[in-house]
Amino acid sequence: MSVRRELIEACHRVYNKGFVAAYDGNLSARISEERILITPSAKCKGELEEDDLLEIDLEGHLLEGKGKVSTEVKIHLLAYRERKDINSVIHCHPVYSTAFAATRGEGFGKPVFPEVILSLGKVPLCKYGTPSTDELPESIRPYLNSSWAFLLENHGAVTIGRSIKEAYFKMEKLEHSAHTLFIARTLGGEKPLSVENVKKLYDIAERVYGLKVNK
Ligand SMILES: [Zn+2]
Repeated sequence: MSVRRELIEACHRVYNKGFVAAYDGNLSARISEERILITPSAKCKGELEEDDLLEIDLEGHLLEGKGKVSTEVKIHLLAYRERKDINSVIHCHPVYSTAFAATRGEGFGKPVFPEVILSLGKVPLCKYGTPSTDELPESIRPYLNSSWAFLLENHGAVTIGRSIKEAYFKMEKLEHSAHTLFIARTLGGEKPLSVENVKKLYDIAERVYGLKVNK
């Protein structure tokens, strides 16, 4: 499958899953050292077709395609510049994850689910930044090397991956765990893992899954 096709399928998936509403979100994939394929702004991800995708350089200049480059492109460009190992960036506003990103600076709080730690590492709550300004990418920068999923305060979520599929599944995993955590709270509250058990998981995440974790 071509990268263009794969990115469009991921766009349809995030829309169908309800991770974005209306024109929300943006998805991208690295197609060469200098070129990024990215969704245009002001288009519904559920309706996008292959020809709608834009090709840009690492400065965000439009190289090919008709449409406007999103102002949130800065998040994508920073991720590709800082992380040579990743080839896809997905930004959405999934309901449960975004709710956790909007609750008085708490974010995901303490680690609860072993599999989430193993696939996402730490999920930081990145300080609020005004959309379209440099505040937004700068809020992610301190965590870029040690995480694969990021909550954006009062805004949404970002995931990165070595492939489009990986970035998509990390978004799905993030939202699934946020949903589960929400239900755990309605049942009386989650029981966080012990410090000792979390440390063991971070060791496995680094050794087995190659995640760099800032312990
Ligand atoms: Zn957004």
